[in-house]
Amino acid sequence: MENKLYLVIPCYNEEEVLLETAGRLREKMVSLISQNKIDEKSRVIFVNDGSKDGTWELIEKLHRGNKLFGGINLSRNRGHQNALLAGLMTVRDYADMVISMDADLQDDINAMDEMIDKYLSGTDIVYGVRSSRKKDTFFKKATAEGFYKIMNTMGANTVFNHADYRLMSRRALEGLAQYGEVNLFLRGIVPMIGYPVDVVYYERGERFAGESKYPFGKMLSFAVEGITSLSTKPIRMITFLGFFIFIVSIGMLIYSIARHFMGATIVGWTTLMVSVWAIGGLILLSLGVVGEYIGKIYLETKSRPRFIIEQFLNDEI
Ligand code: UDP
Ligand code: MG
Repeated sequence: MENKLYLVIPCYNEEEVLLETAGRLREKMVSLISQNKIDEKSRVIFVNDGSKDGTWELIEKLHRGNKLFGGINLSRNRGHQNALLAGLMTVRDYADMVISMDADLQDDINAMDEMIDKYLSGTDIVYGVRSSRKKDTFFKKATAEGFYKIMNTMGANTVFNHADYRLMSRRALEGLAQYGEVNLFLRGIVPMIGYPVDVVYYERGERFAGESKYPFGKMLSFAVEGITSLSTKPIRMITFLGFFIFIVSIGMLIYSIARHFMGATIVGWTTLMVSVWAIGGLILLSLGVVGEYIGKIYLETKSRPRFIIEQFLNDEI
């Protein structure tokens, strides 16, 4: 089996961590090459997601210094998922297997050995799964785990505690390339591809420098994006809710008529106010959810490009 490995690493304002990351990855790649696990033409490709700091200049410098490093410069900031996709789609013509990871190396790079072993024994997709979140703050842990649970009940099936640290074979990437949607949510799409899959467990460390680029607000909108771009279950839930409220209203009707004939029709102002607000809120919420989907349809029909590459630095081309 061919074994040319490409690493794809999205970077947004990562100048504080980039050199350290590059150093650690070079060491790792050299050791993998010397063990004959991967081809000597393997590469580390940094995707610059429209950083405002000197990230791209650093990537260019790394590339000039060592042909192991390459870079993709996006025309502007498109967010982590699109940057990752840009990287995967660009390198799939050169690589036999691709591993994606974050620039801050929170994902243990020593898990790569096991991923590669699994690839070599015929697995197409290997998910890196966090065995624990001891190093995360309580808030991050609780919100992130809640995130997976809510997503799964809403119909977006993702691998629990797996972020975007994963190995994909070339044929899995070819499969991914056939999903032409603009609102692409990688963590939900990759499990749809099929082929033999496996997982590798690792401990997630702390960011060694710089700040998280995923504050709570971004994570929340990421969850909404994920759910609405993967499934229509929330709309179905609204339908059921509407049905349920309809049943309740029939009950209320019977109750009101019965009370009327019993002669006790002093209408409570409180009940009226509460129900007006409750129903009004539900209607607005439902409209909002339906609107989210219409917005998605609007964006899909335009089929705008998911990313635009300004420059691709790679010694092989
Ligand atoms: N990232 C990116 N574009 C963005 C935001 C983040 O490419 O708009 C990259 C970032 O450089 C990092 C990865 O996505 O390599 C994950 O970000 P971060 O480590 O800040 O997220 P966290 O680990 O806190 O969830
Ligand atoms: Mg991080």
